[in-house]
Amino acid sequence: MAVRCVIVGAGISGLALADALCARGIEPLVLESAPRAGGKIETRNRGELVVECGPAGFLDREPAMMRLASSLGLRVVDALPAARRRAVLAGGNLLEVPRGPRDLLSTTLLSAHGKLRLLGDLFVRRSKGRGDESVGAFARRRLGSEAAERVFFPLVSGLYAGDPDRISLAAAFPWLARLEAAHRSLLIGAARELGGRRAGSRLRTFASGMEELPRALARRLGNTLRLGAAVRALSATPAGWRLSVDEQGAASELEAPAIALAVPAYEAARLVASVSPAAHAATSAIEYVPVILVYLAYRVEQLAVPADLYGFLSARGGSTRLLGAVFHSAAFPARAPQGTVLVSARLGGARDPAIGALNDAQLVGLAHQELAALLRISGAPLDTQVIRHARALPQYTIGHTLRLALLDDAERACPGLFFAGNAYRGLGVPDCVAAATRRADEIAAYLSAQGVDGKRGAREQGERFSQADLRGP
Ligand SMILES: Cc1cc2nc3c(=O)[nH]c(=O)nc-3n(C[C@H](O)[C@H](O)[C@H](O)COP(=O)(O)OP(=O)(O)OC[C@H]3O[C@@H](n4cnc5c(N)ncnc54)[C@H](O)[C@@H]3O)c2cc1C
Repeated sequence: MAVRCVIVGAGISGLALADALCARGIEPLVLESAPRAGGKIETRNRGELVVECGPAGFLDREPAMMRLASSLGLRVVDALPAARRRAVLAGGNLLEVPRGPRDLLSTTLLSAHGKLRLLGDLFVRRSKGRGDESVGAFARRRLGSEAAERVFFPLVSGLYAGDPDRISLAAAFPWLARLEAAHRSLLIGAARELGGRRAGSRLRTFASGMEELPRALARRLGNTLRLGAAVRALSATPAGWRLSVDEQGAASELEAPAIALAVPAYEAARLVASVSPAAHAATSAIEYVPVILVYLAYRVEQLAVPADLYGFLSARGGSTRLLGAVFHSAAFPARAPQGTVLVSARLGGARDPAIGALNDAQLVGLAHQELAALLRISGAPLDTQVIRHARALPQYTIGHTLRLALLDDAERACPGLFFAGNAYRGLGVPDCVAAATRRADEIAAYLSAQGVDGKRGAREQGERFSQADLRGP
C-alpha cells in the first residue's frame, strides 16, 4: 500500500502542513534530512542563556498560528513593553523609531526638510502602471529619500536583510500596495488601518524558546515524521511521484500520488530539474542572502547606556557593518539570568554578503567593538556564540509575483506536485503556518478528487516505510 502524500522537509512549513493534513484525516509521511525537526527554528541552551539560532519571536497577527500553538498546549509568552521600542542607527546615534504616523513629526530621525517631504505623501498620486515597483522606488516616491532611508529601509533590512531597490513591493509588502490603493496616502491609510492592527499584534514567543513549536509538532506527528531521511531525487510515474530517499546511507524508493516540497527554493529547484523545467526556472530564480548572528552576553553594569528596547536596525550609508541588533533579555527576560544582558548582532544580508569570510573570533571582535562604542560597554563579553546561515532568507525580488504565477502553472501541469515554504508567500513563522494550512486544503481537495482515500493511516505507512522501504537493498 503506497503512501498518499509525502512532505519533504520538516521546517515549520512542512510540519504545519503535515499537522493540518492530519487534522483533515490524511496522515502524510514527512521526510527530513536533518537529525532534528524545525529547520531554521532552533533554540540552543548555553548554561542559563537561551540562544535563538533563527526566529526569536513572532507577531500574533495570524489566527492560524495562534490556533496551532493553542492546540499544541504551548504556553505563549508576551514580550515586555520595552520591546515596543525600536531604534535606527543613523549617523552613529541610536534614534528611536516613531511608533505611529503622528510620532513621525516629532521624531529626531528626520530633518525638518525630511518631515516636510514626508507630508508630501498626502498629495502624491497613486501608483499607476509602474509594473512591479521596488520597495525602494515606492518609499522614495511616497515618503521622500530621507524618510525612505532612515525609517523604511531599516525595516526592510530587519525583515528580509535585503536590498530595498531589488525587493518587490507587491510580493514583499502587498499590504502597503493595498494601503496606497485604498487610501491614496500612506499616512492617512496607516492612521486609519494600522492603529487597530498594531494594537492587536504583539511580539510573542514560547516559554523555553521558539523551538518548542516544532518539537511539539514533531511529537504530535509521531512516526509520521522520519528524521535523517534526505530526498535525493524526484521523478514522475503514471500514478504520481517517485522519491529516491537516503536514510543514514541506505538508499530506497517511495511512491505517492501527492508530494509537497517544503524545502528551500534552491533545493526544490534541484529536485524538480528533470520533471518540470518551468518549476525549476521559477524556483531557481529565487535568491537567498546570508545572515550571521553574533550572540554576546554582558553583565548589566557593563553597559553605560541601558539596553531597554527591542533593538536597532542600521540605516544604509553609515560606517557600521552591523545590520542591527536585538536585546533579547529586554524583550524576554527569561532568555538570560537576572543581571545579564543578552544581545545578538545581525550581520551579512544583501548589504554585506562577504562578511561570511571572517572567522568566528573576528566576527565576535567586530560585533563587540561596535556595540561597545554604541552602548559604552566596559570589559569583554561574558559569553559569545556565532550562528551562521549561508542561505538564511529568500528574497522576494522584482519578478517574484511572476515567478509565483509560473510556479502555479507548473503545479497545474504536474498534478500532485505542491510547493510550500517561506520562499513563496510570506517569510515569518506565522505566514508559513497560515500558508501551510491553505496548502493542506488544496492537497486534501486534490487527493479527494483523485479518489485517494486519505483516511488510511500514514502512521501505519510510516512503520512500513521505516521497516521495509527505508532500509533499502
Ligand atoms: C536568522 C533568522 C531570523 C529570523 N527571525 C524571524 C523572526 O524573528 N520571526 C519570524 O516570524 N520569522 C523569522 N525568521 C523566518 C523564519 O524562521 C523562516 O521563514 C521559517 O522558519 C522557514 O520555515 P520553512 O519550513 O519554510 O523552511 P526551513 O526552516 O528552511 O525548513 C526546510 C527544511 O527542509 C529540510 N530539507 C532540505 N532539503 C531536504 C531534502 N532534500 N530532503 C529532506 N529534507 C530536506 C531542511 O533540513 C529543513 O529542515 C527568521 C529566519 C532567520 C534565518
